[in-house]
Order: sequence, then C-alpha cells, then structure tokens
Amino acid sequence: MSLATICSICKKREAFFFRPYSGERLCKKCFVRSVESKVKATISKYEMLRFDDRLAVAVSGGKDSVSLLHILAKLEQKHPKSSLVAITVDEGIKGYRDEALKIAAANCEKLGIEHHVVSFKEIFGCTLDELVKLHKTNQKKRFSSCAYCGILRRKALNLAARHVDARKIATAHTLDDEVQTILLNIFHGDVLRIAREKPVTDAVHGKLVRRIKPFCEIPEKEVSLYAFIKKIKFQSIVCPYASEALRNDIRTMLNRVEERHAGIKFTIFNSIERIRFALEQVDSKERLGECEECGEPASEKLCKTCQIVKETLQHNRHSN
Ligand code: SF4
Ligand code: ZN
Repeated sequence: MSLATICSICKKREAFFFRPYSGERLCKKCFVRSVESKVKATISKYEMLRFDDRLAVAVSGGKDSVSLLHILAKLEQKHPKSSLVAITVDEGIKGYRDEALKIAAANCEKLGIEHHVVSFKEIFGCTLDELVKLHKTNQKKRFSSCAYCGILRRKALNLAARHVDARKIATAHTLDDEVQTILLNIFHGDVLRIAREKPVTDAVHGKLVRRIKPFCEIPEKEVSLYAFIKKIKFQSIVCPYASEALRNDIRTMLNRVEERHAGIKFTIFNSIERIRFALEQVDSKERLGECEECGEPASEKLCKTCQIVKETLQHNRHSN
C-alpha cells in the first residue's frame, strides 16, 4: 500500500475517500466517525440542544433526513433524558411522496423511533398537486411550486412538532443547502433574509418551535457517502417539481466552482457567519402577531398559508 492510499487519521487502513478541502484521505471507518463527530461539534458549537430536549426530526425519506435521523438516534443514546420523534410531511405529490413515506416509516421502525405523518390535505384541505394545478392557470400565480411547498411544509411541521410536544425541530439542511439559500436570497434581492436563516432559529414567538440544522457544516456529498457506507435505505427518485427551481441552477454553479476551488462552500458559509451579527442589526426585527384566520404566527393580518389557501379556494370557485 503506498503512503498516498493510507488513511490520514488511523494511518492503518486503506483510504477510499479524498476530502479535497482538507487534504485528508480517509478509510471508511474514520470517514463515518469524522461525519458523526462533526455533527456533534456543530450541535455544541451553536448550542443546538439541551440534554433533556424532546427533538422532532423532519424526515422526508431522502438521504439527508434519513441519515440525520440515524446520527441523532446514535447521539441520543448517550442522553437518557432526551427523546426523539420523527415527523414526515406528506405534501401530496403523486408518484413521489408515497415511496418516501414507506422508507421514512421503515427507518423509524428499525431505529425504534416514534413516527408521525401529517398531510397537506388534512391540514390545508388540498394536496400540493391540486394547489399547483389550480395556480398554473392563474395569471397572478405568486410563487413557484417549491415556494408553495416550502411555506406550507414549514407550517405543517411546526403544527406537528407542537402536537408531539417537541421543543425543537431538526432539519437535514446540509452545507450545500445553506450556501444555496444564501445565494438564492441574494439572487431574489432578499438579502436581509439571510440574517434569519441560521443554524439555530431565534425564539421569536411562543408558537414557533425553534429549528436546528445539525448538518449545516457537512457537505451534501459526504452525507450521501455516509448513507451509502452505512447502507441506509433512502428514496432516490427526484421530486417532479424540482427542476423548476432556481435553486437547481445555483447548485450546479456552486458544484462547478467547488470542483475547481475546493472549500469555496465553507468560505461562503463562514463569511456569512462572520457578518451575521451586523446583518441582524440592520434587519428590522419582524414583529410577529397572530393570523386572524388560524391564530398561528404571522407578520401580516393573515399568515402566508392562509393567504395561499384563500387564493386557491377563490381560484377554484372561478374556474368551476
Ligand atoms: Fe416541495 Fe420543491 Fe422539494 Fe418538491 S422539490 S418536495 S415541490 S420543495
Ligand atoms: Zn393563518
């Protein structure tokens, strides 16, 4: 075995992965350990959890969320006073979500984790498919399918987390997702929003469960590799609406730059962390009231979901 193929950490086993941004060559065992310790380090760096937290993990069934569930389940064993619960949101996307639901349920069963499923249909009265179809013919369509999905999912998760008494919600946003979101906000001209999208959200309203992102410093590629080595079952079909998103173009662009300049994603992420305090000072603190319709946190008279549901109903009436 040549020196170049020996693991940089254990110096014994054969390396199978080269980490371009650190120059390390890692064997499978050391790679898995390094991902798990990085998650642990991120949790303590941003003070994401308390020893007795009841944590709801948002599990879509994709590789990122299922891997996060596995890692958190492992970490949780060391904290007997904490507990985990998994929440899956069924947006109602035909041919896509059905398989993911089964995978999410199978992983929870394997890990012995309580699993709750909530659907757009039961909460909002329509599936994402129905909503998108109605708004497609609407000239005044305000958002992309993913934006509708994101707004509704956020509320569904928050309601579900409160229902199961969780103190926090963990989502599987990776370093890639975080950096894409930063650029997306810049591309949308919504730069101050960057201040609000952070590893741990602030406690801004009693009804808004705080969110944590334990994967925010793990590249997506490494999460995939982790899932592959640990033989974790996940859904690999891509959502039919995914290709519409500007996020996709940003992802391709960032991956191309990262390939030529290793570490650029970390540089962007860390740059924002460095100026976050200043950003927060400029960002006028949004005072959240409560929606007149549903009583959930809202910055306007009606929360965004109630606005969307109302517009959908109106449009449905006109088109019938
Ligand atoms: Fe929702 Fe878009 Fe994700 Fe599909 S790709 S699940 S529409 S956010
Ligand atoms: Zn509302």
